[in-house]
Amino acid sequence: MGTGVKISRALLDRLRNEAAAAGPLEICGLLVGRVGQIEKTVASSNLAADPAQGFLLDPATQIAVQRRAREKGRTVLGCYHSHPSGDVRPSAKDAAQAEEEGALWLIVSRDAAALWIASKGGAVRGRFDAVALTFPSSPEPRLGDVRRKTALPPQARPANRDQDIPDRGPRHEIH
Ligand SMILES: [Zn+2]
Repeated sequence: MGTGVKISRALLDRLRNEAAAAGPLEICGLLVGRVGQIEKTVASSNLAADPAQGFLLDPATQIAVQRRAREKGRTVLGCYHSHPSGDVRPSAKDAAQAEEEGALWLIVSRDAAALWIASKGGAVRGRFDAVALTFPSSPEPRLGDVRRKTALPPQARPANRDQDIPDRGPRHEIH
């Protein structure tokens, strides 16, 4: 699956907060950016008959976001939605709903997030493979972020090779 897909911690935190605020209902929307980088998200109404049991993007929002992304030289990379249960693996319903091959599926909950790509015969439900979420050179995480669980599948954890490098003396700020 290559090197993963970048997203800012701030953006991911905002989605988790929105998911938490929606309580038992699933939130949903679209992922916009460039290949390999989610730059922004656009919320959609959840038009599912029972928004506590699934999600359905508003087609009008999809069309508008598609058009605006094209105008700005960006791509609609896929969609996001929340799982109020906290289990951020795709459900059977998600697998049945995944129509577009190669689309990214970001699933969030209050405490977790995982990224998937729709892939025929994928490892998860025969429809998805895991994709690593990576965080571009961001400031030191705050304490709250460190404690927060991120339920990425093991193969989707971003490598942190810095830990293997011995400390060679006093630390300096690198700019
Ligand atoms: Zn789902």
